[in-house]
Amino acid sequence: MSTAAAISTPDSPGGIAVIRISGEDALKVAAKVFRPFGKDDVMSMKGYTCAFGIAHDGDERLDDCVLTVFRSPHSYTGEDVCEISCHGGIYVTRRILRTILKNGAEPAGPGEFTKRAFLNGKLDLTQAEAVMDIISAKGERELKMAEELRQGAAFKVAKKCSEKLLGMLAGLAAWADYPDEDIPEVQPENLLSGLEEVRGSLRKLIAGYDSGRLIREGIPTVIAGKPNVGKSTLFNYLAGCERSIVTDIAGTTRDVIEETVRLGDIVLRLSDTAGIRETDDVIEGIGVGIAERMIDSAELVIAMFDGSRELSDEDIRLINNINNKNSIAVINKTDKEQLLDVSRLNKKFTKCVYMSAKDGSGIDKLTAAIEDIFHLNELSLNSASVTNERQKQCVDSALSSINAAIDSLKGGELLDAVNVLIDDAESYLLSLTGERITEAVVDEVFSKFCVGK
Ligand code: GDP
Repeated sequence: MSTAAAISTPDSPGGIAVIRISGEDALKVAAKVFRPFGKDDVMSMKGYTCAFGIAHDGDERLDDCVLTVFRSPHSYTGEDVCEISCHGGIYVTRRILRTILKNGAEPAGPGEFTKRAFLNGKLDLTQAEAVMDIISAKGERELKMAEELRQGAAFKVAKKCSEKLLGMLAGLAAWADYPDEDIPEVQPENLLSGLEEVRGSLRKLIAGYDSGRLIREGIPTVIAGKPNVGKSTLFNYLAGCERSIVTDIAGTTRDVIEETVRLGDIVLRLSDTAGIRETDDVIEGIGVGIAERMIDSAELVIAMFDGSRELSDEDIRLINNINNKNSIAVINKTDKEQLLDVSRLNKKFTKCVYMSAKDGSGIDKLTAAIEDIFHLNELSLNSASVTNERQKQCVDSALSSINAAIDSLKGGELLDAVNVLIDDAESYLLSLTGERITEAVVDEVFSKFCVGK
């Protein structure tokens, strides 16, 4: 493989930037660009050591730098790796990279270093994907899940299941191929119990996926309610800035504004809508139509009601629109005299929360209600779980084959048929870990990475 180089730190000014070089000629290339102070020379540097010196382009001095050397196989990629830490200016960093490329390295593609780590057997595919999860983690829960994956939690479960299936396949093959030998007959009930065990492990692997996905990607949420109920005020409180227009004139929030907000450890992908109501106003009408469609597609509806007023027809229309949705009724304006009869809300909504959007009081109750609805507190962060759609699909497919194999066994079908299904399941698990996978899938996985990782 060629020697590749890229800037591994963000493309913006900072205290320090790191340029990584990986491959057979990493030290040779680094030696042409970096001159250590003192009598060290790059080629004789040991792994896990660093040297202070200058980066230069021929006679031109570029910057004072630190060079860190990792020797194969004890590096991130498994190859020889040199990392040059320079001052974190955009120009100086790019200039050093250009000099490195001029001296024999090739530009690294997206995720090139992690891809090399995968191809060199340092990581399985789920662990490689976890690196990206760690980089994009926005909170404690996401980080914990990503770290579990990177430590190989899902890989270990998949590997154990795959070995078990392989054992069954070997037993079936030996029995079928050497009927004259003294090989014990494969007992369907043994196969059945083995398959059921594998099924249990795989089901656990995807059990937390949906909650995990909501934590990672945020919960698509709509704040709905009649005009003037306090939607924009709540939205602005959550978003922490004045993004939508808050006024006393009913119907001023006409369009849909979207914002990702953080409520404790929960991320909400929040839409502030025009509210639900009958209207003749054309512009307002557009917003109202969107609002109804958004309620349909949201995973969570925060339906707001004005606690200081009696229930109106518009409120009732909103209540009737919430069909089998995860929904929270927020009874707003608790700082005012309360006139709302909440019995109807209690019957319809999963949760009712009292708050004052103006000063944010009651917001902790809203957080708790969301955690409850989506079982976020029950999500075990220390258990193995898949974290992306590719991984989920591999496990789902393996499970379908295992279910079919179990049904075949129970239906008394020939073991040949069962054999094919177990083989399929095994194949899907090998795709999950990347042990049997096409180049196109590998390229697809790493194309989502940033350059330099
Ligand atoms: P929207 O039309 O539903 O988006 O409502 P707004 O957020 O524009 O709020 C309408 C009016 O209600 C504004 O004058 C807000 O300041 C006021 N308001 C919002 N929340 C509260 C609250 O908790 N208490 C009180 N007293 N007024 C509020």
